[in-house]
Order: sequence, then C-alpha cells, then structure tokens
Amino acid sequence: MWRCWRAVPAVVGIGDNTLASGDMVLLDGVKGEIAIDPDASERAAFEAARLGYLKGRQAAQTHARRQAATRDGVAVKVMVNIADPGEVDAIAVGHVDGVGLMRTEFLFGDGLPDEEKQYAAYARVLDWAQGRPVTIRTVDAGGDKPVPGFTQEEANPFLGVRGIRLCLARPDVFMVQVRALLRAAPRGNLRVMLPMVSVPAEIDQSLAIFAEAAKSLEGEGIAHAMPPIGIMVEVPSVAVTPERFSRAAFFSIGSNDLTQYVLAASRDNWRLSQIARADDPSVLALIARVAAHGAANARDVSLCGDAASDPLLVPALLRAGLRSLSVASSSIGEVKAAISGCDLSGSG
Ligand code: PEP
Ligand code: MG
Repeated sequence: MWRCWRAVPAVVGIGDNTLASGDMVLLDGVKGEIAIDPDASERAAFEAARLGYLKGRQAAQTHARRQAATRDGVAVKVMVNIADPGEVDAIAVGHVDGVGLMRTEFLFGDGLPDEEKQYAAYARVLDWAQGRPVTIRTVDAGGDKPVPGFTQEEANPFLGVRGIRLCLARPDVFMVQVRALLRAAPRGNLRVMLPMVSVPAEIDQSLAIFAEAAKSLEGEGIAHAMPPIGIMVEVPSVAVTPERFSRAAFFSIGSNDLTQYVLAASRDNWRLSQIARADDPSVLALIARVAAHGAANARDVSLCGDAASDPLLVPALLRAGLRSLSVASSSIGEVKAAISGCDLSGSG
C-alpha cells in the first residue's frame, strides 16, 4: 500500500484479484488502506477519520499563508512544483517562495514543441511568480517519462540515455529549449536546472550549449539573459562527491530518483515501496552531505522530490540540513504546518 500526496486520494498495490465489480470500497489515501464492503462500525470510523482529515487540512490552510519557520525560529523556504503552466492559476503566489521545480516534459507530449510554444509556457510562469525564483528543469525525457520521437528503445531505460544525456545526444532538440529559456529569462527570476547529471562533463557541455545559444540570439538581436544554471541531485555520483560539480550554480535533490538509484529499487514498483524509501538512512546521509556541501560553498540546496511533500518526512529532511523544500501545490499548507512543529535546537 502507498499513500499519495497529490490531492487525489489513491491507494496502489492492492493486488490483482482483491476487488470484484460492484464491491463497495472505502479508500483512505492517508493510511494507504481500503475497506471492502465495510460494516456500520467501519463506516463510522471512516467518517470520523475523514472529518478529522478535513479539519487538519483547514488548519493547514492557515499555515499556507505564513512564511514557514520551525518552532525554534529557523526559516525554511517552501516552493512549489508544477508541470503544466496552467497549474499556477490555482496557486496563491503569496503562499510560496517560488517555483522549485517546473517539469517541462508535458510540453513534449504531442511531439517536439517549437521555440514559441516553450517561450510562452515559461513566460507565463515567470509572470505569475512576480519576481520570485522560478526553477525550470530542462526536459527530463526517458526512464519513467518516455517521449515518442525523442527517447530511444533501451533494455534498461532508467539507466539509459535519459535526462541531460539525451539532450546532449540531441543538441538539435536541446537548442530549441535553451533558446526559449534564454529568451524568457528577462521576464523574471529564472533559474535553469539540468536533470540526471552524473558526471561534471555534462555541466560543461550544457554550459557550452547555453553560451552558443546566447551568442546566436545576440547576433539575431533577440532579447535574452543568462540565468543561473544548476543541477538535480538524482544520481549517487553527485551526492557522494558534490564538490566535483562546482560549476553548478545550485543543487536540487530529486529524492524520487536518488532513492531508487541508492537502494536499487525501482520507483514505480509497488512491491518495493518498503525498500524504496526516501527516509532510508542511506538516502538521508547523502541528503545531509549535499546540504552541508551547499552551506559550506554558498550553493543553494533544495529538495524537490515527493519526499518534500510528505509531512511525515519533513522533520527528517530538516534535520538532514535542508532549509528549502519544493512541494506539490496540494501540500503547501500541510508541509508548512509540519515545519512549524519541528524543533531543530537539539539537532544542530
Ligand atoms: C525526482 O527524481 O525526485 C524528481 C523530482 O524528478 P522526477 O520525479 O520528475 O523524475
Ligand atoms: Mg527525477
């Protein structure tokens, strides 16, 4: 069973023959449980839990409006994750410290998007953010996010030509996105993030492509700006030796992929959900390592994987040294409430 924090109650991994057509089912997305053909007392307990949950969510809405801080006064940034730019219309911009992750794969759903389509999507989010940082990730195709016409058939796509590897293999496609990002940069406080970086040379090669794009925009007389370019920390090689990735302007920990690669447990296999946990001590140790490296080297470190949206994991993430989390929009209030309940005074 698995809990889901995307505002849609969901339980996965119940097995193939658990339900028959017509069964009445109560679904508890918080506990990750279902009750089949519940009796009166189960229904009453479910209703009480539902009302308690709604009360908690209401209290969380009060927290959503406040700047996040722990009980002992440590400020924590709470940013939001988005995919489709239209999502921002439902998010109160004053409730977040910016966009910590804008996934761009959705733009690639109907074939490869042109520069104008991408520019319009990025500009819309930058305009919405009113000067707050907006971290846009270059396309992370492959693995669990195949893009027809772009990704290749591979025996093991999670360890294959995905993320920045694919962009560097297809500079023709990457260049279109880079140009759109550089053109959007003057509209606000843009930061660009490279996914699935595993060796420093990938940053060098990417920076060269950004410089080339800037040069050609300059030559064409098109307005543009160079944003800070950081990386996702999703591959253990980065988390173990972050100092080798000094050309990254900032780090954002992708705990979904980092967890699956550290524990060798596929993120989309529910049978492994008890192993693939972001709060495994091995993953938390790597998070702490990156956070300490960032603090010592003036590099902003955030975490934008699903772990940040889980109020139960927030204390462990803060104790690991993180002071910036990027969460699903449905979790902003609950995460801020969880932060306010933490006391870090005894944990360094
Ligand atoms: C992650 O891996 O934690 C992440 C945020 O990226 P995605 O889930 O899009 O792979
Ligand atoms: Mg990832």
